Formats: sequence, structure tokens, C-alpha cells
Amino acid sequence: MIPAAFDYVAPTSLDDALAALAEAGDDAKVLAGGQSLLPILRMRLNAPEKVVDLGRIEALRGVRDGGDHVAIGAMTPYAEVVGDALVREHAGLLAKAVETVADPQIRHRGTVGGALVHADPAGDVGAPVLALDATMVVVGPGGERTVPAAEFFRDLFETAVDDGELLTEIRIPKHTGWGSAYEKFVRVSHQWSIVAVAATVRVEGGSIAEARVGLTNMGSTPLRATAVEQALVGSSASGLADACAAAAEGTNPPSDLNGDADYRRHLATVLTRRAVQKAMEG
Ligand SMILES: Cc1cc2nc3c(=O)[nH]c(=O)nc-3n(C[C@H](O)[C@H](O)[C@H](O)COP(=O)(O)OP(=O)(O)OC[C@H]3O[C@@H](n4cnc5c(N)ncnc54)[C@H](O)[C@@H]3O)c2cc1C
Repeated sequence: MIPAAFDYVAPTSLDDALAALAEAGDDAKVLAGGQSLLPILRMRLNAPEKVVDLGRIEALRGVRDGGDHVAIGAMTPYAEVVGDALVREHAGLLAKAVETVADPQIRHRGTVGGALVHADPAGDVGAPVLALDATMVVVGPGGERTVPAAEFFRDLFETAVDDGELLTEIRIPKHTGWGSAYEKFVRVSHQWSIVAVAATVRVEGGSIAEARVGLTNMGSTPLRATAVEQALVGSSASGLADACAAAAEGTNPPSDLNGDADYRRHLATVLTRRAVQKAMEG
């Protein structure tokens, strides 16, 4: 289907983008890589009067060293994140998760910021960002504010970014020297996650000193498996099964044609053990 007619603007500065959003009020929609928005417009599930394209705002794109964190511009495409040396060294978990998103075409168009604001619970960016304790930078008419990842995802397709606001940057505390793995379960390659687990660990003397675990598609938002994180501390490779047994605790996974909730709970336990085991290996 062809989208309903809309006005299109492509500002070159953040201020101009915010002004365009303010002028249009509820009738505006932000365009990033378009990989989720354009199908929505084509199916006429949304019919904004104005589309504000962020693609020409250079300041929103790229990765920089922020000292104790890696700062990723919201408009940075997946492909750049995967190949970026800073991300690979200090936030390896994110690179490994993003590498599994769809296919190369989508990874060249889709952006990390677009994925986070879209907030599909089966999306592969939320869980690693949550596990890595990222901070989101949100800018709006009232100025700039920062939102911890733990408070960013509010519900299905709903985040802390309000109408008229923009996500501009994702700040990821450096996890230098941590091992990481993203275990994604799909029936056909390039598919969305049925369940996936993002794990990153710091190993000292053969056992886990610190662990962070995020779950994809185990509820209406990405989730942290905090009981597992605590149980993993002090575990060696041989003790992972017991520590990972509680991976599905407190989750509320969906039931659909890919699997029911019990099947997903089972997957979460198995994938958590696999992800942590791989993360311990580097
Ligand atoms: C065939 C197909 C397969 C896919 N498979 C996967 C997969 O396996 N795993 C996965 O994780 N994803 C998958 N995706 C989704 C893909 O990752 C999208 O790119 C992503 O969800 C949205 O990013 P985008 O940059 O394209 O954003 P857009 O589609 O442009 O925008 C998405 C939403 O976010 C809003 N928005 C975007 N940027 C901002 C911003 N900076 N501030 C405020 N609001 C903003 C838009 O208004 C819109 O509501 C798939 C998509 C397709 C088409």
C-alpha cells in the first residue's frame, strides 16, 4: 500500500528538528532509518501529517570516546556500530547483539536510536543496552535530560521519549575486558528473536566476579535477569546450570505461533547458560 500523503522535512540541525516537531504537535513523526516506520506508514497503521527526517543531522551520527563511557549517536546505523573499534573493545556485548539484527541491508539503514525508541520487545538492541547499564540522552523543548536504561522502556512500543522529544545519544559505561555473548533463538536465519539472551561477565581467577544478563522477548519490554546475575557471582564454568536456573523468574513471556510462554521460559534458561558460558570464554 502507498502511505497517506504527508509533509516531509529534513532539517540539518537538532534545533530545527525540534522546532519542526513543536510546530506539528501530535501530527508529526520522526524518521530515522525507516525500517520500522515505513512499513507502518505503508500499512496505514499511522498517518502523520508531517515526517521529520533526522538523516541530515550529522551531529546525531557516530561513536565517540566519552572517557568512562562510549557515546553512540542515535542515528548511527547498526553496521557502523558492529564495526566500530570503541564499541567492540568497551561494549562488545552490543556489537555481538547488533550483528544478529536482520540482514546487511537493514543493518545499513536501521539505526540504534530508532530501534530503541521503537521498543519492539523482540528487538535485539534493548536487552544488551539494559544489561550494560546505558544512559539515554533525550532532548526536547524543555532542554536535555538523561534517562537510565532501566527507566527507558515503559511498555510494549512505549519509552520515556515523549512526543516532541528526540533520543540523541546512548552512553554505555565501558566494560573493558568483560567477556560477552548474545544467544538468539530463531527458526530461520535473519528472523526476529523468539527469545534471546545478552550476557556479559568479568572473570577473575576462573570464576565470575560480576555478571549482567538481559532478556529479549520475555515480556513487554527488555528485562534484566537480576536473580541470575547475583547467583552467578563466584560461579566457575562447572556451576553455571544451577546459577542460570532462575533466568525466567519474574518474566511474562508472550505465547504465539513461534512458541508458548512455557517454551520461552525453558528457552530463556537454556540460552542464559549458553550465553554465560560463551561470555566466560571471551
Ligand atoms: C524485514 C525486517 C526484519 C527485521 N529484523 C529485525 C531483527 O531481527 N532484530 C531487530 O532488532 N530488529 C529487526 N528489524 C527492525 C529494525 O531493527 C529497525 O531498523 C528498527 O526497529 C528501527 O530503526 P530505524 O532506524 O529504522 O527507525 P525508524 O523505523 O525510522 O523509526 C522507528 C520509530 O522510532 C522513532 N524514532 C526513530 N529515531 C528516533 C529518535 N532519534 N528520537 C525519537 N524517535 C525516534 C520513529 O518515529 C518511529 O516511531 C527488522 C526490520 C525489518 C524491516
